[in-house]
Amino acid sequence: QVKERGRNGLAFYQPGMLDAVRTRLSIENALRHALEEDEFELVFQPQVDSDSRPVGVEALLRWNRPGYGRVMPAEFIPVAEDSGLILPVGNWVLRTACATLSRWRHLMPGNPTLPLSVNVSPRQFFQADFVPHVLDCLGTYGLSGNHLELELTESVLLDDIVETRSKMRELAGHGIRFALDDFGTGYSSLRYLQQLPITTLKIDQSFVRELRTNDDNTAIIRSILSVAQHLGLKVVAEGVETDAQARLLDDLGCRIHQGYRYSVPIGEREFLAWIGSRGAGRQTREPATR
Ligand code: C2E
Ligand code: MG
Ligand code: MG
Ligand code: MG
Repeated sequence: QVKERGRNGLAFYQPGMLDAVRTRLSIENALRHALEEDEFELVFQPQVDSDSRPVGVEALLRWNRPGYGRVMPAEFIPVAEDSGLILPVGNWVLRTACATLSRWRHLMPGNPTLPLSVNVSPRQFFQADFVPHVLDCLGTYGLSGNHLELELTESVLLDDIVETRSKMRELAGHGIRFALDDFGTGYSSLRYLQQLPITTLKIDQSFVRELRTNDDNTAIIRSILSVAQHLGLKVVAEGVETDAQARLLDDLGCRIHQGYRYSVPIGEREFLAWIGSRGAGRQTREPATR
């Protein structure tokens, strides 16, 4: 509720408003020190195919704020966006993601490293030196771009399509893939799916959460899958929590899932143990568990 009030502009005084402003300022001030104090952490959530084998992994940001415990992105990403702090924070995320990938490559020699998906905020994407920064992160750790997927939201596509396209194409030229996050909730034109080097659509979890047989969500997911199939795009369903949701998605033909049903986002060590017990990629084959 803090973020909403902060964005409304302060036209009228309402009880609690001052508190909200104070909370926001306190978050902003604390965020300024969070990088130096090393308070950020990436956690990881696998994406699995219909045999429950991991085919990808998303990095998600957490803030271990002293005195507050673990703070979730919903509470601080909007503040970071508005204050511009998302730029250094976003750079930290990219650098840390690449460092992580290079560790995984050494830990699992011979194994195809799972592609790692990183969320990029619009403000970060439109930063003048975004492309060189991404390439620099990869270069520092000797990684090629095909280990990395960048998750953008549809709002990026509404901004400056010429700049968006040229940046995406340049990065795609280095093997970097792009996913459209929270797909179905924005207003982007389907035309962009064709014009931009997008490889993956992530169906927003709101469609999955209330999924029932033959409801509106089914119709929406069906049409997303159909567009994706025609354009040769991969589809990932987000927020899959229950067996029933997984089954309905499978029946619709949506086979890559991400959600609590498979794993909540977990720390690096726990994630490596999870991978170890599942077998990554095409390497090992387990009997289907769902
Ligand atoms: P997102 O990229 O759409 O990430 C998916 C969110 O859904 C994550 O929330 C994840 O923990 C949550 N989730 C995964 N499976 C389930 C499930 O089965 N049920 C439910 N209810 N939720 C599930 P999280 O980690 O709180 O992140 C929220 C949002 O914050 C992300 O949405 C993303 O937009 C943003 N975010 C996270 N990390 C970063 C980052 O490093 N940079 C930027 N710019 N944004 C980030
Ligand atoms: Mg995401
Ligand atoms: Mg999402
Ligand atoms: Mg989101």
